Parts: sequence; C-alpha cells; structure tokens
Amino acid sequence: MNYIPVIGLEIHAELMTKTKVFCGCANTFGSERNSNCCPVCLGMPGALPVLNRRAVELTISAGLLCGCRISHLTLWDRKNYFYPDLTKAYQISQLYAPLCLGGGLEINGRFIRLNRIHLEEDAGKLIHERNVSILDYNRAGVPLIEIVTEPDIRSADEAVAFVERMRRNLVYGDICDGKMEQGSLRVDANISVMPEGSDVYGTRAEIKNINSFRFIKRAIEFEIKRQIGALENNGRVTQETRRYDAASDETFSMRSKEDAHDYRYFPDPDILPLFMSDEDITGIKGKLPEPPHSRFLRYTDAYGLSVKDAETILSERFMSDFFDAAVKIGADPKAASNAVRGELLRCVREAGSDEIPVSVSDFTKALALAAKNEITQEGLKTALSYMFFNHVDLETAVKANNLLISEDFELIGAVITEILAASPDIVSKYKDGNSKVFSYLFGQCMKRLKGKALPATINAELIKGLNEI
Ligand SMILES: [Zn+2]
Repeated sequence: MNYIPVIGLEIHAELMTKTKVFCGCANTFGSERNSNCCPVCLGMPGALPVLNRRAVELTISAGLLCGCRISHLTLWDRKNYFYPDLTKAYQISQLYAPLCLGGGLEINGRFIRLNRIHLEEDAGKLIHERNVSILDYNRAGVPLIEIVTEPDIRSADEAVAFVERMRRNLVYGDICDGKMEQGSLRVDANISVMPEGSDVYGTRAEIKNINSFRFIKRAIEFEIKRQIGALENNGRVTQETRRYDAASDETFSMRSKEDAHDYRYFPDPDILPLFMSDEDITGIKGKLPEPPHSRFLRYTDAYGLSVKDAETILSERFMSDFFDAAVKIGADPKAASNAVRGELLRCVREAGSDEIPVSVSDFTKALALAAKNEITQEGLKTALSYMFFNHVDLETAVKANNLLISEDFELIGAVITEILAASPDIVSKYKDGNSKVFSYLFGQCMKRLKGKALPATINAELIKGLNEI
C-alpha cells in the first residue's frame, strides 16, 4: 500500500529584542551562566511581569510578512507544567487569542497555510555535564514566537523548503537571527501517514527540537518510514513525543504526547489583555525592512538577474545587503552579482564567515577597474580574495599582487616570438589552414602573460605574429 505523509511544523524563533519579554534582563546569547537574571525571570514570589513592546512589534512583523490577520485584541495564558528549567512552573503563552492568525507561504507552487503565530517566553537551559546537571536561566524569559502550520506539508523536502523560506523572512525582517546552531530557531515536526486515497489523517508523532536543516530532512524521512513499518506490522502508530538522535539517525520515544487540555491553560491574571489599533498595526508595517520577496523581484525584474542568481544572493542576508549597497553606489548589477556569487561566496565558504569583510566602495571600484580593462578578470578575483582575507584596501591589494595591467608590447612580442619558435610543427599546421591549433598557441601565450596582458591584446598580437612568419 502507498502512504501519504502528513506533516505540520511548529517553528520556535527567539526574537531579536534587547531585553527579555517580561523583564529588563539582557537578551544575549553566550553570556556567563545565570548572569542575565532577575526576580521576574527567576519566578520569585511577588515579582510581576511587564510586557516588552518591541517583542509584540516583532511578532506582528512576522505575521505581516506571512500574510496573517493581526488580532486587535490579544490575551495571555498560563501553560502549567513542571520542569527544572521553568522557574514559575508555568509558561506565559497565548492559547485562546494569539497575536497573528491564518496566513501562509507558497512553496514551489503549493500554499502551506499557517494556523497562528503567538508570543511566549522561552524556558531556561539544562546542561548535562558528566555527573551533574547545570541550570542556566539566562534564556528564561527570552521572547519566543511559535509559528504553527496546518498539516499541509507532504514531504521532508517540502518541510525543509518551508523552514528555509520562513527563516529568510525572519532574518530579513530583523525578527530573529535564524542561528539554528545556537538554538535561536528550533523546529518541532508533527508527522503522520495516511493510505493513498484516504482523507483521514493517521495518528501523529511529534519530533521535538530539531536544530538543523539536515536533521529536519533526516528525522522526517526516518519517521515516515518508521510509521509505515509500524502500520504494516501491527496496524497502529502511538501518539507520542519523540526525539531525533543525529548520531544514530533515528527517532526515539520520549513520552506519550500530551494534549492542550493537559496543561490546564488559564488566563494570566498578571498581564492585561492587549489592544492593537489599526494605526498601531499600520505603524509597524511602515517600519518593516524590505522583505526578501520584493528584493527578489527587484533583482530579477529591474536588474535582469536570473532566478537562480537572485536566489543565491538572497540565500544569506549579509550577501544581499552587500550587493544592494554596491549597486546603490553605482556598481553594475550583473558584474556585482557575478563577483558576489563567485569569488566572494567562495571566500565566505572557505572562511566559514557570516559577513563580507571588504569595503563596499573598494569592491565597487575593483569592478570598475575590471570593466575598464585596467585589471583582468583573474586579477579582479585576486583583489577580492586578498581584500577579504587580509582586511586591506583595494590599492594595497592591487599593489601587493601587481595587478594593474601595463601592457608592455615589447614583452608581449618577445613571448609570442619565443612560443612560435618553439612550436614549428604547429605553426606550419596553422599555415596549412588548420585553424584549430590557434587555441593551443593562444593558451600557451595566456599562461605566460597572465595578468600582464589582456586576452584581446594577446589574440591580436598572436595573429600578427603568425602572419609575419
Ligand atoms: Zn529578568
């Protein structure tokens, strides 16, 4: 029997606010353990939460970028459970009236609907070291949005594409830094399978806290196979929460899956309902940075870049920002695109960097030098990688690598004469009308004169040399 996977995602994204969602503690990653804490985020008796306005704005920004309806009235609820990383034994969240409803994203022609985006607080972190477990509450109270899809996704690849597109929206919107390796973007996947032709969803299992694109794909693929195997063997799948173990590439059962009513949600009496007017929402819309889709249209329509090239530049925001800044000060879009996607991306990958440490103005000047044939295309690559790795300006890079072409015709003539003299057989073949051997001779000259003469000059001088024999 064939089975259709049915997948819904919950994406947790930490917001890029300066402070936590209900107190004034710093929201930073990598601080000394338990250094960003106060009575509110430690859940001390009598401490009262105060809502962070910026966290609300960023949640609404995420909703606007995904076409959600923004709620005018939003409420806060307590989700009750005990775990050592949850100081109050409840999490302030939004069950009944979240900030954003509906919306969705189109992935390769299919529309994946969102159910909601709500704002809540993150829990602390439990770190297990040898025989002890350490609690770090720096993350307790960090603003977190939960983006919940409808079960519209049908494959592991589609799930990965959805998370990539969502991450791009969040990063370009200054909403979340999208650093999955630091846990600021985490994914839970709800997976079930149903027989082909059926429209009744099967029992689902939830895989918690997947933190890389590769693991999303592998965890979902494993789980689909496991569930099909279970259905074929015992005819049933258990509703449960599982975790993915990257080392063994399998999912393991953690606990039976709880339902919302198990958490005894109730309205939080410490925080007032929040009313957002149309003006509030329009104001937030007006402050949104240019979304990735509109950059894409600008690249393809106004600059004439191919879809593939535009996607490559957009794949990382720092590349897109760098490209935009160069075009803004006069760089030719196509030349800039070639250089960013080519040499600069190569350097970024080699260095494992998440920035381009080259001045935009020097980059633009280097493109202009190549366009005026003052340096060769090879020389342009050398200049860019030299500036990237040595943090120097263009002038230094050009001088250090002797890149400026000063075409010395005496030298060019001497090299050509020497190469022709060394290959009398090939020259006579050329003279007999075999024009194919020209490219061999041209290649020899290019090798010797690389960076010292333009290909067009070598071409012209070589023809002249051959004619003179
Ligand atoms: Zn605090």
